[in-house]
Amino acid sequence: MSPIAAPRLHTADPIAPFYGPDYGALVRTDPQIAGVLLDELERQRSSLQLIASENPASPAVLAALGSVLSNKYAEGYPGRRYYGGCAQVDAAERLAVDRAVALFGADHVNVQPHTGAAANLAVFAALLTPGEKVLAMALPHGGHLTHGAQGNFSGTWFETVGYPVSEQTELIDYDRVRDLAREHRPKLIICGATAYARLIDFAAFRAIADEVGAHLLVDAAHFAGLVAGGVIPSPVPYADVVTLTTHKTLRGPRGGAILCRAELASAIDRAVFPFTQGGPLMHAIAAKAVAFAEAAKPEFREYAAQIVANARALTEALEQEGMRAVSGGTDTHLAVLDLRGRDGAGVRTAVGAKVTGREAEMRCERAGIMLNRSCVPYDSAKPMVTSGLRVGTATVTAQRMKEPEMRRIATLIGRAVRDADGVAVPAVEKEVAELVGEFPLYRPR
Ligand code: PLP
Repeated sequence: MSPIAAPRLHTADPIAPFYGPDYGALVRTDPQIAGVLLDELERQRSSLQLIASENPASPAVLAALGSVLSNKYAEGYPGRRYYGGCAQVDAAERLAVDRAVALFGADHVNVQPHTGAAANLAVFAALLTPGEKVLAMALPHGGHLTHGAQGNFSGTWFETVGYPVSEQTELIDYDRVRDLAREHRPKLIICGATAYARLIDFAAFRAIADEVGAHLLVDAAHFAGLVAGGVIPSPVPYADVVTLTTHKTLRGPRGGAILCRAELASAIDRAVFPFTQGGPLMHAIAAKAVAFAEAAKPEFREYAAQIVANARALTEALEQEGMRAVSGGTDTHLAVLDLRGRDGAGVRTAVGAKVTGREAEMRCERAGIMLNRSCVPYDSAKPMVTSGLRVGTATVTAQRMKEPEMRRIATLIGRAVRDADGVAVPAVEKEVAELVGEFPLYRPR
């Protein structure tokens, strides 16, 4: 027997760095748009992707997205469409639903929401009438726009009350949530956020919802992939409804899905179509089916576990750079860092100036590190400025980076953030290029 193991087939492996898409035909027919796509491919390959809501979809997912299913109208649901010729798209949607039901152990799944926001809109439409009360995490503490922001449907058509995190621990304060629920008697309680790095006690939320007679929505947009990979607890046994995005930790196409209890199935389905959406994006639904199958593989469990291990390593190393981890750490794929530091000294430039979230985001971007500013709980800075950064490890883990690389990344972030006048940019850029060269994303064909 040969002592040399056969190389793994990257294209068949949902976790490996895989080959990039082939835009050959588009280059000939529309060189301008092909140029944009190729430039974006190059940007993704040549810089570090640490935006917590992003992840690279596999070639199989991208193939389904770019398929002839985009041509098909299919208003309705499998077997109950308002158009002829739906046998193939029915098969795609049934596969997507069956795979999601098996992956998450849900009674019922609707795979048609175009996005996470569209999924949340449909849940509000199914469970509430305008003017009713919703209790959700306050936006400056990590909640999402669709959980009650002014300017969003949720804060405009519904009365929303925000629960804060504890000022001392920066964790959800379940006693406070219960007090607010008793005071306001909401019809819907939401947990699951955009910038909250710790595990959520779904059983505690269930008990509070039951006490006040509210429905419980768990918005798993961010952490659905970690649930699928079995590395954090599932909200499905506790929630009436779970919404998710398929493009974040789940690593599928841009899109949404709704899981719910059997008794809510028809209300949810009617709220998606015809109440809030028209024809489903069948190419995206086929791509969701591909992603659900990929997430059911044993390699995905390893991938999800490594995402969390990497997030912990990155967070600890960023603390060494003077950034304080909000709530003291992370249990998930993301971390929120307070640039003001533990003692208020925080991250400063050579001349001692403090750095805001907006400034830090800009300094990282010019050095080839993509991440985003974030409010920290009880932030004194304006929402467009902020005192924090949010980082996520889903993409770099897809590139097969591990803990030692997280320490390298933290050093690069620290150098970029402290670099007020841009003198360090060439050196940091060079090291970013070396790192992503060692762990390529979408290998050239
Ligand atoms: N819910 C949460 C908690 C999110 O973080 C997001 C997106 O960041 C969404 C919903 C909305 O997802 P989408 O951007 O697909 O509408």
